[in-house]
Amino acid sequence: MTVKVVNPAPNGAHVPTPEGDPVIRVRNLDHFYHLEGEDIHAVNQVSLDFPAAHMSAIVGRSGSGKTTLINLIAGLDTPTRGDVWIMGKHLNTLDEKARLKLRREHLGFVFQSFGLLPLLTAAENISVPLRMRGMGRKEREDRVAEALEWVGLKRRAHHRPYELSGGEQQRVAIARALAARPEIILADEPTGQLDSQTGRRILDLLRRLVAERGVTLLVVSHDPMVMAEADIVHELRDGKLIETRIKGG
Ligand code: ADP
Ligand code: MG
Repeated sequence: MTVKVVNPAPNGAHVPTPEGDPVIRVRNLDHFYHLEGEDIHAVNQVSLDFPAAHMSAIVGRSGSGKTTLINLIAGLDTPTRGDVWIMGKHLNTLDEKARLKLRREHLGFVFQSFGLLPLLTAAENISVPLRMRGMGRKEREDRVAEALEWVGLKRRAHHRPYELSGGEQQRVAIARALAARPEIILADEPTGQLDSQTGRRILDLLRRLVAERGVTLLVVSHDPMVMAEADIVHELRDGKLIETRIKGG
């Protein structure tokens, strides 16, 4: 296997990625937090492309700006400066309602802390977002069953989160994300709360999303396993993109 290292230009010039139009395009992104009179430059002139049906990772130490960057890409926060396009749509020009629609239709999320509703069963956790999208009951039931089957948790459908292991909870979260059939899945430290063996299984599952369903996967992590698994690794330091490694061969 070959690894091509790309050192991004300091002015945030275009970073080459594999063939095809990028599903996510980020240009000259800056984000500042203002805290007690201090300006924190959490994302500093980042330009990136995320190609379709690949696994990309954003890595870097704690505090390097990974979560801030993924939230800006998800449209959960608005950048101080710079541009984000998701599937050709310019996020900056969309109002809150249109951004919510874009998120619901095209993006799935997986979080470090799983983000399941504690009083609902696994099946209900997967079903609720589908209902919010206005999906009818029959289709919802089919989607929930299919998603649970896909992550290997059919027999845990009626368990609540506290009746599931961490790895199982994360599998429910993945099922919830994929039930809506999004083109893009964004995961922030998806293995962060799991032991390495369980993390490995979650990573295999995320990998299969790319291979079997053609999902564009973006994982933010400081887990070396994630770096080893990704097709493309972007490294952040102090909010700046310092290196991109593209695997091939
Ligand atoms: P990472 O996910 O890589 O650990 P973050 O994006 O969470 O990094 O944080 C990047 C920088 O921004 C850090 O210095 C952090 O302390 C700061 N930061 C993150 N969120 C906020 C916030 N809501 N208010 C102020 N500073 C923040
Ligand atoms: Mg983080």
